[in-house]
Amino acid sequence: MSPYILALDEGTTSARAIIYDENVNVIAVGQREFNQIYPHPGWVEHNPEELWAAQLGAIKEALDFAKIDLSKVSAIGVTNQRETTIIWDKRTGRPIYNAIVWQCRRTSEMVELIKRDYGSVIKEKTGLVPDSYFSSPKARWILDNVLGAMEKAEKGDLLFGTVDSYLIYRLTGGKVHATDSSNASRTLLFNIHTGSWDSELLEIFGIPESMLPEVKPSSGFIGSTDQEVMGGEVPITGCAGDQQAALFGHIATQPGESKCTYGTGNFLLMNTGNKPVTSKRLLTTIAWKIRGKTTFAMEGSVFTTGAVIQWLRDELRILESADESESLARSIPDNDGVYMVPAFTGLGAPHWNQDARGLITGITRGTSRTHLARAALESIAYQTHDIVECMQRDSGYDIKSLRVDGGATRNGFLMQFQSDILDVPVIRPRMIEATARGAAYMAGLAVDFWESMSALPRSESNTDVFTPKMRPETRRGLLDGWRSALAKS
Ligand code: ADP
Repeated sequence: MSPYILALDEGTTSARAIIYDENVNVIAVGQREFNQIYPHPGWVEHNPEELWAAQLGAIKEALDFAKIDLSKVSAIGVTNQRETTIIWDKRTGRPIYNAIVWQCRRTSEMVELIKRDYGSVIKEKTGLVPDSYFSSPKARWILDNVLGAMEKAEKGDLLFGTVDSYLIYRLTGGKVHATDSSNASRTLLFNIHTGSWDSELLEIFGIPESMLPEVKPSSGFIGSTDQEVMGGEVPITGCAGDQQAALFGHIATQPGESKCTYGTGNFLLMNTGNKPVTSKRLLTTIAWKIRGKTTFAMEGSVFTTGAVIQWLRDELRILESADESESLARSIPDNDGVYMVPAFTGLGAPHWNQDARGLITGITRGTSRTHLARAALESIAYQTHDIVECMQRDSGYDIKSLRVDGGATRNGFLMQFQSDILDVPVIRPRMIEATARGAAYMAGLAVDFWESMSALPRSESNTDVFTPKMRPETRRGLLDGWRSALAKS
């Protein structure tokens, strides 16, 4: 067997390629950024050709750095920014419009109308709350707005895919049009109970079935890279959306295990086992399908977490760097009654209030930038706490510890405070990329690079664990302060 696994991670701002050995040591990383296109306020696009070029460039960089070629790679795993939608021509392989990115709000009016009539049936079948965030309204928008597109789609001449699907299509030289269950479950077209595309949902969104990719397992053979395109034939045997891949990368494979990614926003996912568990305020999604078994997850996201630190740095300009927030927060013994609710774009789960706006409370003459930095970091922990509380209630599982990853987890103050507020240990692995690692695990499992889930190499010794140290009455007081600030927003 060739000694390496290659993970491709096509994120929102860059494409990465990471080469792992059998102990999941990172042998090489390639990374290429691509442009963010903002045609109108609230619209976000990527150029699919540029996504592909960035991914290819990243692969080349990683292989060059490791001084190997593809023959040394046993299998490839793909993970991707979720929901982002591409439609391309079946004959030429050319996209008919830019990729519409998950963040793009252009379809919110369309979705409001659909939600009014079909909200409950959609939630029932897909586990999702209809929102312009998901793929099918974006696909419908392209079909409605590109001249002749709907007609072509109805004739079976167009293909739809999320970013994984498009990458697989390109990697296989146009031979394979496929996705996996976790990505399919983010389209609003996939019935998570039957595990198949749903004709009623296709009807509601007006999407012809012939456009849809074949749904493959998250770990299993999908196709092989094309010799001419890639200079080698390697099986692609792993595929999952980035948040689900990160859950797998933490080996959160038992029901009740969870992870939280701290980036621009926070994404908390909990493994709920082989049955979908529904919640009024959180999403139900497919975590992965492996060896014939579907595993489900409950998902809660907070829109504004790391973004509040960026705001202090770039707009208020009271931080030199994101890292400086840590030393400022540590320079005072407590928040001195100052709370920040960063509801910049309303409040997401579990509060769901689009009209809420941000605020800072408890300001006195003595309030300084240290208090603002501390209040901002604390707000990340309180918002995550609210999701955890809701998830525990709705899933029936206790979160006994929280595994974390993402850019903001570098902040040791934040990690300790998070542990204190949740009253559970926070576990931070020193590996850089849970997401890419999850895709690598999935790919490797399918080709017996690793024999079973229990044989997956862990790096337990390489973790930082933050344990709760706060007195219960202090915790209660802080959470009361947070709740009263929240109520005012
Ligand atoms: P994304 O994948 O969403 O782009 P990353 O995982 O790269 O995000 O994390 C970047 C986010 O983390 C930014 O919003 C930044 O403000 C925040 N961040 C980075 N370093 C720190 C830090 N030391 N303390 C708090 N937040 C941080």
